[in-house]
Amino acid sequence: MNKDTAFFGHPVGLRTLFLTEMWERMSYYGMRALLVLYMTGAITGFNPGMGLSAINANAIYGIYVGMVYFMVVPGGWIADNILGHQKAVLIGAIIIALGHFTLAIPLEQTFFLGLMFVVLGTGLLKGNISTIVGNLYRENDERRDSGYTIFYMSINIGSTLGFLICSYLGEKIGWHYGFGAAGIGMTFGVYQYIKFRHLLEDAGQKPNEMSDEKRSNLIKWTKISLIIMFTVIGAGLLGFITVDPRVFAENFAYFLTIVAGAYFLYLYGFAGLKNVEKKNLLLLFVLFIGAAAFWSGFDQSASSLSIFARDYTDLSIGGFIIPIGWLQFANPIFVVTFAPIFAGIWAHLARINLDPSLPIKFAIGLIFMALSFIVMVYAVKLAMVTAPVGMRWLLLTYLLQTWGELALSPIGLSAFSKYSPKRYMGQMFGLWFLASAIGGVLAGLLGGDATVDGLSSVQPIFTFMIQYYAVIALALIIMAYFFKNREKT
Ligand code: GLN
Repeated sequence: MNKDTAFFGHPVGLRTLFLTEMWERMSYYGMRALLVLYMTGAITGFNPGMGLSAINANAIYGIYVGMVYFMVVPGGWIADNILGHQKAVLIGAIIIALGHFTLAIPLEQTFFLGLMFVVLGTGLLKGNISTIVGNLYRENDERRDSGYTIFYMSINIGSTLGFLICSYLGEKIGWHYGFGAAGIGMTFGVYQYIKFRHLLEDAGQKPNEMSDEKRSNLIKWTKISLIIMFTVIGAGLLGFITVDPRVFAENFAYFLTIVAGAYFLYLYGFAGLKNVEKKNLLLLFVLFIGAAAFWSGFDQSASSLSIFARDYTDLSIGGFIIPIGWLQFANPIFVVTFAPIFAGIWAHLARINLDPSLPIKFAIGLIFMALSFIVMVYAVKLAMVTAPVGMRWLLLTYLLQTWGELALSPIGLSAFSKYSPKRYMGQMFGLWFLASAIGGVLAGLLGGDATVDGLSSVQPIFTFMIQYYAVIALALIIMAYFFKNREKT
């Protein structure tokens, strides 16, 4: 929207979004790192947990992560049509903070209510804040891509802070202090967003143009949907409906897959796309499958890999036992370190005309993910002989996963912004996050299966994952052949 360069050469509004996303991710990753540990923790002793089985705790974790990213879709729709993106982000941020403070209440009854708030708030915030980033720039402003790169840094600085603060307080003092710290972090985010929102000017301020009659109709249906949703959730929270988390997670995974499949099918067959748009859509569909598979491994950092860190890893450094969650900040620190290197590699390859196509980059991402689980299988074998094992195994795993992430995640985001049919842009971003939703639920299901029987169940599940990464990577390489001579990024 403007030519100003006040924030590292970018519009000053980017600073507002950077800090908001930083605090939001601080609260999200900080709390998430505690979730499975709290749910599986013994109900007695210092820092009592919920005493849930690994299967159930991981299933709830998967449902939670899946819901967070799934809600980005209706959150985007509400912002597009009713609230505008700026207001949606504000309301979302406030609801997230409320959610974490609810989790900070040391009662089991309020636990699911808190999670639900975080889910709903993130649905309003996460996708919409990414949309405003794009709106800060004029149509052909070449700074947009680097704007997204700076924004990706805020995500990782935020998660580093989250692991550092929430894991320390949550694990060493009391779970609920960790949850409360996430709430305080998000409150800083809300405060600075309110104070500096005006710097966004009109980027993402207004919802789509439509007649008053149409808008009030949409508002009516949104209200009805919300009432139905709250009634069902309320009935669940009050115990009128009981759900088996594992069964729910499995059905949720099917549901998400069907929704995504149906949506791609609709766009392909019935949305009146031109031939070239259809071809691009096929490409995005292939990438979508790669991304969902990738996140199903990546998101196990706070499920099976956390349990491995807790039960089988020596966490002492010079006599101090570090919090389990601290191992996870290997990922954001590696992202910040290696992102410029990866960008440099792609740019260099592009100069000599060897830039890999999108499916190949995704295949590289999956191969790194497979390698990371090969390392884990080795670590598990070692732990079966002499536990605990050193931290280096998990650190190496996270390093490989981060390299995979850098070959896939920022590139996927920009591919979706580049190859989506223009009229469906907002919804296509929603689809990109739907891949994260599917990956999140699968991470909970696989993480549960892996940890159900101590170490003996880990190896078969991780081996299975390595196999499916290999198969999907191979399929992507074959697809790359079909898409050859076309898009290069
Ligand atoms: N790490 C990125 C973020 O937190 C991507 C996560 C995802 O899409 N699953 O925004």
